Amino acid sequence: MRNYSLIAPAKINLYLEIIGDRPDGYHELAMVMQSIQLADQVDISANGNKSIKVDCQSLEVPNDKTNLAYRAAELMTEKFPDAFAQYGGVDITIHKNIPVAAGLAGGSTNAAAVLVGMDLLWNLGLTQSDIEELGAFLGSDVPFCVGGGTAIATGRGEQLTSILGLEDVYVVLGKHKNISVSTPWAYKSYRAAYTDSYIRDKEDLAARASAVHSAPMVQAIIHKNIQEICQQLHNDLEKVVLPEYSQVSQLRAAFASLGALGTIMSGSGPSVFAICESKSQAESIKSQVHKIIPDNNLELFVTKLISHGIQVASQK
Ligand code: ATP
Repeated sequence: MRNYSLIAPAKINLYLEIIGDRPDGYHELAMVMQSIQLADQVDISANGNKSIKVDCQSLEVPNDKTNLAYRAAELMTEKFPDAFAQYGGVDITIHKNIPVAAGLAGGSTNAAAVLVGMDLLWNLGLTQSDIEELGAFLGSDVPFCVGGGTAIATGRGEQLTSILGLEDVYVVLGKHKNISVSTPWAYKSYRAAYTDSYIRDKEDLAARASAVHSAPMVQAIIHKNIQEICQQLHNDLEKVVLPEYSQVSQLRAAFASLGALGTIMSGSGPSVFAICESKSQAESIKSQVHKIIPDNNLELFVTKLISHGIQVASQK
């Protein structure tokens, strides 16, 4: 039986703006998504029977049907019943490095890896856009995780335009292990608090279009102007999460005081990242944060921006 090892990178949001309500019940967003080198490894093999098995040693990650990787495999069995009949189910092993429930799309990138891996295992010959379309059934971040890199994401996050991204930009990333922020809570709180800027008329397309302010960030990325990118970092969800979670704002303040070029929360948090001048500055900030915040539950990583999503690392 063949098996594949896939690299599944995490994502951060360089820009996250909430535009309003969508007719389908989701939120209309304008984002710039960015892959980072911090990644899980997802091993997948055909097991020859009719089962799907997920094995992830992380205690925070379920091994049952609620695992997003399981749901991705199940979706493939539903969409491609002939291939399922021919090849059988899959065994999936997830080696977790990405902090769980952190706003880094850990589950989404695992699901994207399963879609890519099963396309290969089952010889389906799907295109990237086919796989992204399948990913949209599983979650708004899954399509981005397939191709990764740097992308403008609109709609509910699944409409993607790639931008030629940045290389060798280092970031330091932190997440408190004992804090989790509910994504639905964060969006609901934003909707309740920001009545002026939030578009409630679901059909008002003109108002939606004029509400998007991501152009300066996109320009800064295209011109590879790191200082300007750092000026344009933006996340609407900070407005509701930071006042509620002092540890998140404390970490953000620590990164800024240690001289990072720019810092912001990723997704609905609680992870916070800081863009640095160099790898050595990122390492130095990482080592100094613990002096400001002496908390053993604070996990810190040095990583860098990358220009790809799911990659096949090996095949046996
Ligand atoms: P997003 O940024 O897409 O909202 P996240 O990075 O904040 O996601 P995840 O790491 O995907 O969050 O975890 C969210 C929840 O999903 C957790 O409670 C976790 O138990 C569950 N989960 C299901 N499958 C996975 C998976 N493969 N990896 C991580 N978490 C998973």
